[in-house]
Amino acid sequence: MTSPLLSVSDLRVSFQTDAGVARAVDGVSFTVSAGETVGIVGESGCGKTLTALSLLRLIPSGGKLAPSSRVEFEGADMLSIPERELRAVRGRRMAMIFQEPMTALNPVLTVGDQVAEVVRVHTKRSRSEAWALAVAMLARVGIPDAAARAAQYPHELSGGMRQRVMIAMALVLEPALVIADEPTTALDVTIQAQILELLRELRERIGMAVLLITHDLGVVAEMASRVLVMYAGEVVEEAPVESLFAQPIHPYTEGLLAAVPSLALASQTTQERLRTIPGTVPPPTAWPSGCRFRDRCEHAWERCATDAPALVQVQPAHRVRCHLVQEPERRRT
Ligand code: SF4
Repeated sequence: MTSPLLSVSDLRVSFQTDAGVARAVDGVSFTVSAGETVGIVGESGCGKTLTALSLLRLIPSGGKLAPSSRVEFEGADMLSIPERELRAVRGRRMAMIFQEPMTALNPVLTVGDQVAEVVRVHTKRSRSEAWALAVAMLARVGIPDAAARAAQYPHELSGGMRQRVMIAMALVLEPALVIADEPTTALDVTIQAQILELLRELRERIGMAVLLITHDLGVVAEMASRVLVMYAGEVVEEAPVESLFAQPIHPYTEGLLAAVPSLALASQTTQERLRTIPGTVPPPTAWPSGCRFRDRCEHAWERCATDAPALVQVQPAHRVRCHLVQEPERRRT
């Protein structure tokens, strides 16, 4: 078996806050192989984005990585390589599409220059070659009249266009892995379909892997082959996309699926229920004892309050963190 492109093991990120230590990412492990699309889903505050940022060592200030955390990408130890080597990987081999284009784009450079800059920093291409590549990529992400738009500044473009510029910057060098954090949320459905198609094309043509972070289970169903469900800083379920959608086991996964009309109808276990999960994700300074989902779980019993469930394998590629795996008779129907 070939080794995975990306291997994350026991990733832990914490912050010291006035309210105590926030364990925002708490022991996350997963792999991504070349050409694979893996989805990470969960509500805001579950640790998805911070997990993604950690892979590129872009943890917000004050964040602390536990020494046990490991992130290996193409054989490099991402958490300990020197900054210079890290910069060579970022943007070239592993790129990220950020959620907020306005904060990630430079307001005083034209968008064409910003895409061309990625090319210039990482390759030996001339200024004109880099510009031509930038314009071609801007056209591929659906920017009409790309040559003219390339000469404009971020504030002259709409939010959706800026998002496409960010996507062009991430994809222009055809990286081995792109981390896409809610990549299409700000885009209308036609452009969204075009971006997803571009990601698929790069996956097929160059074997690009995609780590797709989203709350949109429809996009996950369409794009991903494997899904990680995160709750309160932990992975609570991991499965191939078909198994997860047809037979979710964790009550949180069931809740997420039941909240999406088209998916609720497709799912066998959530058929007649269309609802939202009661309550909200607790703050990371106050994860409950035992199972972190217990305050919101309709199946919870005494054991769930005292005993933290481990992530256990239920099928070769299906892992679940819930006591119902050992005590299925506790499930309330
Ligand atoms: Fe619900 Fe208990 Fe399973 Fe947690 S361990 S998800 S509280 S049944």
